[in-house]
Amino acid sequence: MTYIVIDFEATCWKFPKTPEEQEIIEIGAVRLDLYGHIIDKFSCFVQPVIHPELSYFCMELTGIQQSDVDSAKTFPLVYDQLLNWLEMYPDFSFVSWGAFDERLLRLNCQYHHLDIFWNRSFINIKKQYAQIHQLEKPIGLMKAVKTEKFEFEGDHHRAFADAYNTAKIFGKYLDDWVIV
Ligand code: AMP
Ligand code: MG
Ligand code: MG
Repeated sequence: MTYIVIDFEATCWKFPKTPEEQEIIEIGAVRLDLYGHIIDKFSCFVQPVIHPELSYFCMELTGIQQSDVDSAKTFPLVYDQLLNWLEMYPDFSFVSWGAFDERLLRLNCQYHHLDIFWNRSFINIKKQYAQIHQLEKPIGLMKAVKTEKFEFEGDHHRAFADAYNTAKIFGKYLDDWVIV
C-alpha cells in the first residue's frame, strides 16, 4: 500500500467560469510508502484545450507561463503517463489538500471520455487536519505549513511544490488520518 499525494493547477480567471471549463494545466504528485517516506515523484504540465490561452490572472497566481503549457501534451496523453506511473504500485490511495483536486480530475476525465479510478479513495486531509486540530474551519495549505512551523519548499500554487508540502503534513500525522 502506498499513498499518492497529488495536486493540480488549473486554468482560472479573475471572474470565474464554470467548473466544467476549468482544465488541469499542471500535475504534481509524490508517492509515499506506508511510513510516510517519499519514494517517487511525478511532475508534468498539461496543455488546456477548452481555453488554450492562460489568463493573466492564472499566470500571476501560479507562475506558469503560456510557453509551459503550449509545449505540453494535452490531458489524455499526460493522463496516460500518470496512469503508467501509478500502475508501478497499483495498491494506493490518493491524498490531497481539499476536495478541489478530486472534483477537477473527475470533470477533466469526463470531458475527455476517460476512465477514472471510480473505486479509488481520495483522502481530503484539509478537512481532516481541521478536525484533528479542532479548528473552526479548514485552512489553506500555506497556513497549515506555517502552523507546523515548516518551511514552504518551492513555490505555492505550483503542483509539485503543493503536493510535496502536503506530503510533509501528511507524513507528520500519519497515524491520525482516517483512511477510507
Ligand atoms: P492550488 O493547489 O491551491 O494552487 O489551487 C489549484 C487551482 O485552484 C489553481 O491552479 C487555480 O486554478 C485555482 N485557485 C487557487 N487559488 C485561487 C484563487 N485565489 N483564485 C482563483 N483561483 C484559484
Ligand atoms: Mg491544490
Ligand atoms: Mg496547487
